[in-house]
Amino acid sequence: MKQFKTLIDFVGYFKNEAVCLKYFEQIRFRDGEYCPHCGHSGIYRFSGGKRFRCAKCRKDFTIKTGTIFGESKIPLQKWFVAIYLLTANKKGISSIQLAEQIGTTQKTAWFMDHRIRKAMSQSKGQLFGTIEVDETYVGGKERNKHYAKRVKGTQGRNVRTKTAVMGMLQRDGNLRAKVVEDVKMRTIEKHLVENIKLGSQIYTDDFLSYSRIGNFYPHQVVKHGKREYVRGEIHSNSAESFWALFKRGYQGTYHHMSRKHLQRYVDEFAYRFNARKTDSGLVFGDMVRRVAENDTLKYKALTK
Ligand SMILES: [Zn+2]
Repeated sequence: MKQFKTLIDFVGYFKNEAVCLKYFEQIRFRDGEYCPHCGHSGIYRFSGGKRFRCAKCRKDFTIKTGTIFGESKIPLQKWFVAIYLLTANKKGISSIQLAEQIGTTQKTAWFMDHRIRKAMSQSKGQLFGTIEVDETYVGGKERNKHYAKRVKGTQGRNVRTKTAVMGMLQRDGNLRAKVVEDVKMRTIEKHLVENIKLGSQIYTDDFLSYSRIGNFYPHQVVKHGKREYVRGEIHSNSAESFWALFKRGYQGTYHHMSRKHLQRYVDEFAYRFNARKTDSGLVFGDMVRRVAENDTLKYKALTK
């Protein structure tokens, strides 16, 4: 698998549309060639290699037909650079920056940005093992920002002006992050049971809403209220390092994430966080496949 250590490597490799098409063909036909119209496996290739014809339904197609790449008329090379920028930049990239970098209108860049982010959505399987659970609060008015900096303890956490996001980090595994409706005990417990297998060990701070977790899982607490942050193995520092990354991106790149789209931004940061130790070439291939196959978010629905 090709490695891309720098943007120079990347652009040097995907130097024209033909190379991009060839690369995408390897991804799309990784389990064998097929017709996107009827699924038949026998296809003919026209000379030049850009067009195909199905041996059964006789319809013509290109490697982009039936994917977002075929629908959008944006060159594959621009899609690839956009995917690279969004997966390689720790803080993400705004559609304004993206438009400047790849030379599209802002509307086109916004569409691409959202499609790529949509493809980063988190899997649904349950985490298992030692899990750090922690929440953070996003948005709200500037004068309420100090809430996030208050010492965590038994004091209620404000979700009237801010949106709460719950993080569940499996040690030596993946992070799951979910926008939650509130941080009431029952809400928190519902999300834990959905996302974490029974039998897992849970670490949290001493926020009140975590106080009944012991009914479901073995549960250890660090008492932030008493200025205790680590006790041996017991801490939620790794989950907190993810929040720090997320908030830097939030402030530095996106400035504002509407509540409606917040889960997608959370997904984007979680994807990068979970991919941080994986080879860049594998991550890029995975993203190209996801973007191509993820067809649920239509341009029209998004711009309405
Ligand atoms: Zn066919």
